[in-house]
Amino acid sequence: MKKDIQIAQEAIVEPIHKIAEKLKLSSDDWEPYGRNKAKLSDQLLTKLENKKNGKIILVTSINPTPAGEGKSTVTVGLGQAFNKLGKNAIVALREPSLGPVMGLKGGATGGGYAQVLPMEDINLHFTGDIHAITSANNALSAIIDNHIHQGNELNIDTRRVEWKRVIDMNDRSLREIVIGLGGTKQGIPREDGFAISVASEIMAILCLATNIDDLKARLAKIVIGYTYSGRPITAKHLQAEGALTLLLRDAMKPNLVQTIENTPAIIHGGPFANIAHGCNSIIATKTAAKLGDYVVTEAGFGADLGAEKYFNIKSRIGTIDTAAVVVVVTIRALKMHGGVQKGHLDTENLAGLADGMANLEKHINTIKAFQVPYIVTINQFPTDTIKETEFVQLWCEERDIDVAVTTVHADGGEGGVQLADKLIAKVEGSTKSYQPLYDLDDPLEEKMKIIAQTVYGAKDIELTKTAREQAAFFTEQGWGNLPICMAKTQYSLSDDPTLLGRPNGFTITIRELRASIGAGFIIALTGDVLTMPGLPSSPAALEMDVTSDGKAVGLF
Ligand code: ADP
Repeated sequence: MKKDIQIAQEAIVEPIHKIAEKLKLSSDDWEPYGRNKAKLSDQLLTKLENKKNGKIILVTSINPTPAGEGKSTVTVGLGQAFNKLGKNAIVALREPSLGPVMGLKGGATGGGYAQVLPMEDINLHFTGDIHAITSANNALSAIIDNHIHQGNELNIDTRRVEWKRVIDMNDRSLREIVIGLGGTKQGIPREDGFAISVASEIMAILCLATNIDDLKARLAKIVIGYTYSGRPITAKHLQAEGALTLLLRDAMKPNLVQTIENTPAIIHGGPFANIAHGCNSIIATKTAAKLGDYVVTEAGFGADLGAEKYFNIKSRIGTIDTAAVVVVVTIRALKMHGGVQKGHLDTENLAGLADGMANLEKHINTIKAFQVPYIVTINQFPTDTIKETEFVQLWCEERDIDVAVTTVHADGGEGGVQLADKLIAKVEGSTKSYQPLYDLDDPLEEKMKIIAQTVYGAKDIELTKTAREQAAFFTEQGWGNLPICMAKTQYSLSDDPTLLGRPNGFTITIRELRASIGAGFIIALTGDVLTMPGLPSSPAALEMDVTSDGKAVGLF
């Protein structure tokens, strides 16, 4: 089997102006960024305000294996399949983070014959958006520490600076650091730490802001920490919002690229779904909906994380209507949920598969709770047997669940035609919007409980003393009506990554809350989930290289 990078390097990439022409963009709607990439104007959405929206299709999945279940692959392949059927489709994806690229999981540009191009650029520095986010974040850190050094007029409690520095890398040794050491000329010593850029509030803000003014207003609201008397200090108190907005001016513009079959793809923003809200930008999704009849987008990890936040946070803030959801399953992951050990996932095991279906069943119930039409798709791997595939199909049919097999990894768009056909029939004439799971006016604790019980299947939630005090304090500050962004392991429905399948009777422990007031949500940290991952024992980076003529090697 050819490697993803080999397939990508053999593909015929059209010059980006051809893709812009396909979308009927005029010359002030976009600007080229090299030969194969472009930035769309951030004014385009306003310009197309009165145009009818295309149908938005969200791709989600069951709880994944560490390698991923092929959501990005299916998203790209489905866009290609719509185009094969003569439909005007656009793919709207997240930008990959260097953390997973250099770490364990690999890129986020799809795979096989369902990829976005140029995959090397997209997986590495792309158009610099994530670097801009990192710079804006760290500019705020520098402004905070300079303010403290210059006399601390705002009376910031150096023990309560919540704003962390960021870097787009998995680097566990930066989680907890001490800064300002070395004497009076080097600033004021205090404890600090790094998060990964894609978990930063600035990434969330960029993805949730609808225009530059909204971006600036959200940046101004960032709470960086508290004074000695407990008063919140914002980026506005530090007069930082103008500079931060300026640093993000170009990053705010969605990126236009193409798939391996030259389907337009808009790739913009990339928060993780376990420790952040997991969706591409609102501006990209909404712009795509103005330009295409069908928009295929993705939210990270399983429906318990990405899809939950897509509906309860992104769709609510962006007023986005979703016509249908695709739930991606792989036979491998289902077997893993049925107790089959990782080393045996390639061997036929119908009993294990049957046991693993409970995980899918729970995610289907979640999508039903949001009241959006859905289809299950089996992302076919070469190791799947006919009996296993038939088992999953029958399981769905017996429950009146629409199911389609996709072979987009092997066959490109052609392999997604069955799914695309079924989706077209499903969304035809559907006008119904989704139903959020909680009201914003519900108390913070109640909102967390609703997510834990309805989406994870938990018995209850338990807040630590710290989290309880934070909930009370945040409510007192007037932040009680914000949505919740749960930070939870992607591997399990519970907060324990080893509990696979469909655990029940468990309690979700809310360890700590964080106020992301600029983004407009409260983060609830559960289990041991960390905002700065570490590299695995044998990082993907060790396989990477570049040839003398500049060709990338080892990017999967
Ligand atoms: P996700 O978006 O769910 O994290 P990806 O689409 O990024 O998953 O796919 C993860 C990896 O699995 C990629 O390297 C991709 O090439 C590979 N992959 C996905 N689908 C298939 C398939 N059907 N057969 C073989 N490999 C696949």
